[in-house]
Amino acid sequence: MTEIIDGNAVASEIRDELTESIERLADAGARPGLATVLMGDDPASQTYVNMKQRDCEEVGIESHHVDVDGDAPPEELFDTIADLNENDDVHGYIVQAPVPDHVDYRNVIRRVDPAKDVDGFHPENVGRLVAGDARFRPCTPHGVQKLLESAGVDTEGKDVTIVGRSDIVGKPLANLLIQKAEDGNATVTVCHSRTDDLAEKTRSADIVVAAAGVPELVDGSMLSEDTVVIDVGVNRVDADNDKGYELVGDVEFESAKAKASAITPVPGGVGPMTRAMLLYNTVKAAGLQEDVDVDL
Ligand code: NDP
Repeated sequence: MTEIIDGNAVASEIRDELTESIERLADAGARPGLATVLMGDDPASQTYVNMKQRDCEEVGIESHHVDVDGDAPPEELFDTIADLNENDDVHGYIVQAPVPDHVDYRNVIRRVDPAKDVDGFHPENVGRLVAGDARFRPCTPHGVQKLLESAGVDTEGKDVTIVGRSDIVGKPLANLLIQKAEDGNATVTVCHSRTDDLAEKTRSADIVVAAAGVPELVDGSMLSEDTVVIDVGVNRVDADNDKGYELVGDVEFESAKAKASAITPVPGGVGPMTRAMLLYNTVKAAGLQEDVDVDL
């Protein structure tokens, strides 16, 4: 029987664990605060920001939000960032991507106080992660690690193929999984759009993580028996329903499930974990800034 890894259930466990850490902060007179910054009015980004605010309320994190006009000069966003860096009630914040074309996202990230960079995208935090001394693990890769752990998958000595080399998923996940650490010690192959013979790389893996943003790119024919499959992809495809679309992953679920020993669904796999790990990083940031041991 193939195990369907339930991301909603694991995310819920993580939120429960955070409650204890939040109580420790409360005992010390502190309440963790997360801010979201949205420049422009992209509907999908608006939805993500709303969900993050709801998640905060659920666990007792104070949420703050700043809207910046999509046509404003970059300096207006930079001023907002400077204010958040100074605001003691905000322990962590994220600038929702994508930002409008006239703003250089990398220049935005460099301005975020690394101690409040709960996405883990600031170059200082990227460097610390690569050096094996991560302050904040980026939310999606950390969520993938937690899902593997929840399914009882020991990564030590395993061959992992990651499809995708983005700065937010593929690269940080590869860096985490090769660390000399209990939840690392894997041998990792990172594939991308120029990879020759992708199927050969996925077939030789014990664990396949698909993060390419291509609907159903990986199917059962590309997997060996008993592979663990983690599907990070979230893609909208046209569908004959009220919304006119449905969400599918980067994995063709049914054929992959027939080969896999364990697999994540879309939705309900990695997505909820990304949200939970943002809360985790916020509580960790609050612990560091307030000098409280939050045990994370
Ligand atoms: P990016 O577009 O930044 O990166 C995609 C990567 O996949 C690139 O490295 C690209 O290669 C590679 N790629 C594209 N096509 C192929 C192909 N045919 N074969 C092999 N590699 C390919 O995407 P993200 O990393 O931001 O996101 C990936 C997916 O994960 C998306 O569907 C996104 O929506 C989803 N996502 C889901 C999250 C969640 O919480 N569930 C969080 C973040 C992302 P190259 O570098 O050569 O262009």
